[in-house]
Amino acid sequence: MDILKTANVPDLDVQRKCARVVRHVRLSETGYELVLERNGLVFDAGRLITLHGRDVTEDRSYTIASGERDEHLHILYRYVPAGVLTPQLIRLREGDTIELSGPYGQFVLRDPKRPIWFIATGTGVAPCHAYIRTHPSLDLTLVHGVRTEDDLFYRADFARYTYHPCLSKERKSSCHFGHVTDHLAACDLPAEAHYYLCGAYEMIYDVQALLLEKGITPDRIFVEGYYYRLET
Ligand SMILES: Cc1cc2nc3c(=O)[nH]c(=O)nc-3n(C[C@H](O)[C@H](O)[C@H](O)COP(=O)(O)OP(=O)(O)OC[C@H]3O[C@@H](n4cnc5c(N)ncnc54)[C@H](O)[C@@H]3O)c2cc1C
Repeated sequence: MDILKTANVPDLDVQRKCARVVRHVRLSETGYELVLERNGLVFDAGRLITLHGRDVTEDRSYTIASGERDEHLHILYRYVPAGVLTPQLIRLREGDTIELSGPYGQFVLRDPKRPIWFIATGTGVAPCHAYIRTHPSLDLTLVHGVRTEDDLFYRADFARYTYHPCLSKERKSSCHFGHVTDHLAACDLPAEAHYYLCGAYEMIYDVQALLLEKGITPDRIFVEGYYYRLET
C-alpha cells in the first residue's frame, strides 16, 4: 500500500489503491452513482478522492457521498460527454477495478451542532449527503438547484430535513422554479448558521455575494467549487 503525503493536507493519511466496483447505477439522464469497495479507507464526511485515469492528466476529484461508517464508497457523478474521465467511468461494470487515492480536501463539517444551510448545484449535493449519513441529527436546510426533477439526487434521504429543491428548466408543483440564487434572495437567512456552498463556480460567486449582502459574515461561509458550467 502506497502512503502519499501532500504539503497542503499534511494531517491526512492519503492512500492509493485499486478498488473494485460493487455497483454502478444510472440515476438520471446524465447522473450516475458509482459504488466502490472501501478497502479500509478512513475519511471525514466532506472529503474527496481522486479517481485515476490512464495518466495524470486524466485524474479527477470526486467527493465521497457516503458516510464515515458506511460499508462502501459512493461517488455521485455527472457524465460529461465532452469530458475526459467520465466517458471512461460510465463504462465501468460490477467487478471492474479503478485506481483511487485519498482522502483529500477540506470541505468538512465545521460544527455539526450548529444550524447548517447547504446550497448546491447538481452533483454538488454529494458532501451534504455524506454529512447526513454521518450526522443524521443535523439541523439542515438544503437548497438544491438542478435543471430537471430527475436530477434531485438523494431526494428521499433529504426529505426529513428542510429541503428546498429548485428547478431551472422544469415547472413542478413540489419544487421552486428558478435558480438557487433567486430562491435564496427571498429567504430569511439566520445569522448564526453556517453556510456551505458546493457545485458550479458561477453559483458559488453569486450566492457568496448574496450572503454577504444579507449580512452573513465571511467566517460562516465555506465553499467547494467543482466546475464552470459548459452552458448556462
Ligand atoms: C474538489 C472537487 C470535487 C469534485 N467532486 C465531484 C463530484 O463529487 N461529482 C462530480 O460529478 N464531479 C465532481 N468534480 C468534478 C470532477 O472532478 C470532473 O471535473 C468531472 O467529473 C468532469 O470530468 P471529465 O474528465 O469527464 O470532464 P473534464 O474534461 O474535466 O471537464 C469538461 C468540462 O465539463 C464541465 N463539467 C465538469 N463537471 C461537471 C459537472 N459535474 N456538471 C456539469 N458540468 C461539468 C466543465 O465545464 C468542464 O470544464 C469535482 C471537482 C473538484 C475540483
